[in-house]
Amino acid sequence: MTVPVSLGARAAAAVLAWYDCHRRDLPWRAKPYAAADPYKVWLSEIMLQQTTVAAVTPYFAAFLARWPDVKSLAQASSDEVMRAWAGLGYYSRARNLHACAKTIAGDFGGSFPATEAALRDLPGIGPYTAAAIAAIDGNVTRVVARLFSIETPLPAAQTEIKARAQEMVPGKRPGDFAQAMMDLGAMVCTPRHPSCGMCPLRDLCLGHAFGHAERLPTKAPRPLRPLRRGAAFFVRRRDGAVLVRTRPPKGLLGGMTELPGSPWETDFDEALAESQAPIAAPFRKLESSIEHAFTHFALRLSIYVAEVKEDRRPPSGYRWTPARDLDNEAFPGVMRKVIEAVRRSGENLRVD
Ligand code: SF4
Repeated sequence: MTVPVSLGARAAAAVLAWYDCHRRDLPWRAKPYAAADPYKVWLSEIMLQQTTVAAVTPYFAAFLARWPDVKSLAQASSDEVMRAWAGLGYYSRARNLHACAKTIAGDFGGSFPATEAALRDLPGIGPYTAAAIAAIDGNVTRVVARLFSIETPLPAAQTEIKARAQEMVPGKRPGDFAQAMMDLGAMVCTPRHPSCGMCPLRDLCLGHAFGHAERLPTKAPRPLRPLRRGAAFFVRRRDGAVLVRTRPPKGLLGGMTELPGSPWETDFDEALAESQAPIAAPFRKLESSIEHAFTHFALRLSIYVAEVKEDRRPPSGYRWTPARDLDNEAFPGVMRKVIEAVRRSGENLRVD
């Protein structure tokens, strides 16, 4: 008697065969069947959380060129790591990465622990692993939802999608299988206009058979992000130095550099903005403001600029950064937008 082979198992075999011919050549990836370098895998996986391959690739190359192994990364200052990470977003990942590198270098002689349990005890790996398990890759989610024609909207569908994906994992080459599903989602089963005609799952895919693959997975309507508003103060000394400070290490944008600013509030009162500047100066408000989307809220910042004399001392907690160093500061995206807006404005600043 022949044992029926499940849809998941047939699909897994087809995806792996396709992967062997069509895999993306990614810099952190080992060749099929080969052992990967744990440092590269770890670095790339942390960078790839919530971030696209295209965005990660140049950062990954730059990190690897500068810190080719975990020991050299551990020896870097946290400021250097934050600067190198600037622009990639979700900055707690950079802090965790650095803390973890120090522990591996200090307690494990620079080698990653062999067991998953020991790995999970490392700083940053516990929460990271939990997050990685909790949120399977978006590409995989899409392929599985279409393959099994799962019509329940996300995020409620995640439980079923995860269970189906888990059932598909083959006993042999589970790592390659995960990579294969990610590649299939990125290259063939794309969010819009999936290329079903060239897909190895074409004859198995229920979403394709029912003719509704492209609209899967469906999503529950997203609650509107609240809008917070605030003011940013661009204060320049006559010699070009700009007033900045480093944010506290924990919390939103922790450890990053910022311009002075007001709190960000939903009921922000523009009339009181100037009174929140940490330094008295002849501020002028730019006509344009900037907008930035964080995960849980949208932000609109008005921008106030002023120039002060060279001998002005920075207020407590702030420092002057010379004009030539401005682009090397670890500014997050939102602050870069403010600086860009000031540069574009060509504002003719006055000295107090
Ligand atoms: Fe995606 Fe089409 Fe392949 Fe189904 S057949 S997995 S919808 S590309």
